[in-house]
Amino acid sequence: MNASENGWKAGAPRLLILGGTLEARELAAALAARGGVAVSLSLAGRTRNPLAQAAPTRTGGFGGVEGLAAHLRAARIDALVDATHPFAAMISRNAADAACRAGVPLLALVRPAWQPQAGDLWTPAADIPEAVAKLGPAPRRVLAALGRNEVRALEAAPQHHYLVRSIDPVDPPLDVPDARYIEARGPFAEEDERALLDVHRIDAVLSKNSGGAATHGKIAAARALGIEVVMVSRPPRPEVETVESVAQVLDWVERLAHQSSPARRGV
Ligand code: NAP
Repeated sequence: MNASENGWKAGAPRLLILGGTLEARELAAALAARGGVAVSLSLAGRTRNPLAQAAPTRTGGFGGVEGLAAHLRAARIDALVDATHPFAAMISRNAADAACRAGVPLLALVRPAWQPQAGDLWTPAADIPEAVAKLGPAPRRVLAALGRNEVRALEAAPQHHYLVRSIDPVDPPLDVPDARYIEARGPFAEEDERALLDVHRIDAVLSKNSGGAATHGKIAAARALGIEVVMVSRPPRPEVETVESVAQVLDWVERLAHQSSPARRGV
């Protein structure tokens, strides 16, 4: 379903953003500044100290497709924006199914994937376990920027030295003999990433192809230093109307608002 098929119902339009990304945060702020839309944001609740948001925020899973569809109905949501992370495959599938069931227009906001450039030494991997295997049998010094739910995959290759960077602590620590931990939240500047790779004598970076500027610094730094990046490809996404920028979501909102204006409805 898209904006041209289904405008907002009469009354105060309610828009729900599925978030957990910088873009979702920026979108909430932009819509709050625009006014005229009752925006709310949903977070999974993965990070212990989430950043402040410009819109009222609920936290925690909905309980699958049914739960999300029930929430859309109960909260009388008029439009849904899936601005979750490109690797958050489950919630995006659920959003597509739930929006369909509840008859709510859905737009996905997905930042473009990083593309290899001249000088990049990328080894592609389909998922994180494959990326860990592609580090090879010989011990290496690896920067792994992974979420708490993903990091356990490193235990399959305990021969490497790991520098693990995550927003929240890895607790319990990994069951590998040689790991160091950094807790940090992006954005990360390329210059700082070069210094980090240098100081820790990193010879491989394990990264998801998250896209966006905030975490691209390590990719650019690896290129500059001639370091291999084992790059995990994105999981498949549902086929829904998709845009790449906050500005395009704002255009979509304007179109919906226009369709639901009294003049358009013939009132
Ligand atoms: P996921 O595997 O796609 O989702 C797992 C479950 O978490 C969903 O089925 C849903 O539970 C709940 N959930 C996910 N996002 C939610 C949201 N925005 N609001 C309410 N419930 C949500 O997701 P994930 O990869 O664990 O990511 C979780 C969150 O972290 C997402 O909001 C994502 O944007 C953010 N994030 C993820 C990554 C990453 O690399 N995966 C990186 C940065 C940020 P129910 O089925 O119970 O509704």
